[in-house]
Amino acid sequence: APVLDTEFFRRWLSAAAAAVDREADRLTELDAAIGDADHGTNLRRGFAAVTSALQEAAPATPGAVLVLAGGRLISSVGGASGPLYGTLLRSAGKSLGPAGEVSPEQFAKALQEGVAAVSRLGGAVPGDKTMIDALEPAAQALAEDPEGFASAGSAAAGGALATVPLRARKGRASYLGERSIGHQDPGATSSALLVAALAETAAR
Ligand code: ADP
Ligand code: MG
Ligand code: MG
Repeated sequence: APVLDTEFFRRWLSAAAAAVDREADRLTELDAAIGDADHGTNLRRGFAAVTSALQEAAPATPGAVLVLAGGRLISSVGGASGPLYGTLLRSAGKSLGPAGEVSPEQFAKALQEGVAAVSRLGGAVPGDKTMIDALEPAAQALAEDPEGFASAGSAAAGGALATVPLRARKGRASYLGERSIGHQDPGATSSALLVAALAETAAR
């Protein structure tokens, strides 16, 4: 099992930043179909800010890494996804408390709390065609098997794919009504990338 120490969370966010950078064009294309074509740009800016904040501040605990990263996403991303992802990480980080290393069970619980905070902030539930459709199955998978990072990755990827036939009920895509059907949600897609980066980090 991976050791969930400060370095693990730094490596996760750095893998996430690399994935966002690599996939930014695809995320923006997905957002062009049902939004305003800025999701890749938004997250690229956000994760670049996270990367430089982590280099400058060197937070000393897993919780502090996630709280700092979340705050930077909130302050650097103009779109809806910034406050939502920022809330996910800040809330998960607060749940981890001051420990220098956390158990998989603690992290699974923290992720669940983070996803619940995103739902409270944005009002989305599973099936609304948002990032929740990838985050919630990932959190569920880890709740069932806290060391099952690969399963969480598959659950998030499956959740993102399953947004294609859905009609958006939250966010900008909801303005399209029925015309949002047939497109994969950009935020669910980036969420799957973040969980894939987590699985990758845990496997190394
Ligand atoms: P914006 O829509 O402000 O341009 P982004 O393009 O960066 O922001 O992010 C869009 C994504 O944010 C959507 O694909 C969706 O997954 C997610 N999103 C938008 N509104 C909500 C909400 N209320 N709850 C959860 N996720 C949301
Ligand atoms: Mg957008
Ligand atoms: Mg926008």
